[in-house]
Amino acid sequence: MAVARSHPFAGPSDLHLHSNHSDGTETPAEVVRQAHAHGVRTIALTDHDRTTGWQEAAQQTAALGMTFIPGMELSAKHEWRSVHVLGYLFDPLDDSLRAETDRIRGDRIGRAERIVRSIGRDYDLVWDDVVAQTTPDATVGRPHIADALVARGIVRDRTEAFDGILHPREGYYEPHYAPDPLTAVRLITDAGGVAIIAHPVTAGRDRMMPVPFIERLIAAGLGGFEIDHRENTDAGKRALHALAAEHDLIVTGSSDYHGAGKPNLPGENTTADEMVARLIERATGSTPTYA
Ligand code: AMP
Ligand code: FE
Ligand code: FE
Ligand code: ZN
Repeated sequence: MAVARSHPFAGPSDLHLHSNHSDGTETPAEVVRQAHAHGVRTIALTDHDRTTGWQEAAQQTAALGMTFIPGMELSAKHEWRSVHVLGYLFDPLDDSLRAETDRIRGDRIGRAERIVRSIGRDYDLVWDDVVAQTTPDATVGRPHIADALVARGIVRDRTEAFDGILHPREGYYEPHYAPDPLTAVRLITDAGGVAIIAHPVTAGRDRMMPVPFIERLIAAGLGGFEIDHRENTDAGKRALHALAAEHDLIVTGSSDYHGAGKPNLPGENTTADEMVARLIERATGSTPTYA
């Protein structure tokens, strides 16, 4: 596909990967090296509610002749649903966005401590076990509690933890503070970024937001949907493609790589060159790092 000369990125592009600055298991540089080893040439690092991995990732992509697109996966909530909004190429120094991510990360810590205290009444688990599984200042999530349960020999891996003890039905689950998706989209857009709903049509309790609400997000500046993601259902993908065509939105595909924390591998889904170019053209908050 022809790509404008002003955007000299090379595909394949994987626009959703996590490092140990949130709940991935590898450093940003390792994530980049893994992506390169899997044939990916343009990546976005999208840690939850945090941008501190960008610099290290950008240095490593430059060293490997790759393109780096700064990103983040902003936590949001619609009614009971956890909604993840990917933000790309926004200004990382934007005051409003920073205040919101600070608030989310702060609340995630207290929430994780409450979950651990609750689990600790039935299992041999204490907060220090979780601290041992996180890097300083990492965005703390249930995956770190899962790693602590693995280290204690209570479960085999993150998947078993999420299917069991960490599942809401077991009674230990607690939500954390997160803004409404409308606020999330506006914060990213106002910071010069492009907002893309991550894995919008997963099966189960987090199933798709109602279409009228998605249309309000579009009116508020939503840029598009992450459609090619292993957790999206086939029926959901078809519905999203129709909605994207109707509103001329950007569609992306990504791995949602978490290192050893999930089976997802870099490049297992990719984003079309034309769509990457549209992201870059639309954004005003920051720029990709080209090799
Ligand atoms: P939290 O935001 O703390 O509620 O944790 C949700 C995060 O856990 C998601 O962003 C995923 O990265 C991760 N996650 C969800 N389900 C699983 C699973 N089955 N195995 C591994 N990680 C998971
Ligand atoms: Fe995650
Ligand atoms: Fe997510
Ligand atoms: Zn993710």
